[in-house]
Amino acid sequence: MSFNQNEVDTLLADCRRCCCICHKFCGVHIELHHADHRSEGGSDDIENAIPLCFDCHAEVGHYNSDHPRGRKFTAEELRKHKKNWLEQVSSIGVNGSTVEFSRDVGAIQSMSDELQYNLTVLTNNGVGLLGSTCQVNFERAIKEGVIKYLPDETRNKVMIAYASSSKYNRAVEMYIANPPSATNPTGTNGQLTNIVSRATTQLQEALRLLTVFINESPSI
Ligand SMILES: [Zn+2]
Repeated sequence: MSFNQNEVDTLLADCRRCCCICHKFCGVHIELHHADHRSEGGSDDIENAIPLCFDCHAEVGHYNSDHPRGRKFTAEELRKHKKNWLEQVSSIGVNGSTVEFSRDVGAIQSMSDELQYNLTVLTNNGVGLLGSTCQVNFERAIKEGVIKYLPDETRNKVMIAYASSSKYNRAVEMYIANPPSATNPTGTNGQLTNIVSRATTQLQEALRLLTVFINESPSI
């Protein structure tokens, strides 16, 4: 069983495909969360559905009742977020009120895009084509606290992939500082090639696991 598609269409149109908690625009990266968990008898009635972005969905589903820290999202609170947001959106243009829309895809998706970019840098590596990998979205995922919601193996592989990307950047700097010369015809190219090959495998693995995490829609 799942939510009725016609009612889902209406709900997604009504919320403008924005997350009901943080209000960012999600496009296809939106998920329907069961306010009352399905595993605890929550229904597939559309009243029980709340549209959420990946980050908020991970956050809502993460609370550990056996080791309580912070405050849990209750079903009642989630329904209030939904109600408030739908009211806010429907009042646009009424009484001159406005709603801010953000096109931010969120920290988890941004990190996946960044890893893809880093992989592109590595696989196009060659003398004269040396680029640098980035980790601003990795830092953002840490800062925003969403990295801890990834399954242990995925988080470990993502961290290893970023560590390798940094190592690659340092190797590029070394290669540029020690270019091939008459006494050292390859410069540090051999070292760089090894680092690229290891980092490529690690980035591919991290991306694979992150994609699995993003694509699986948890039934919670
Ligand atoms: Zn959100």
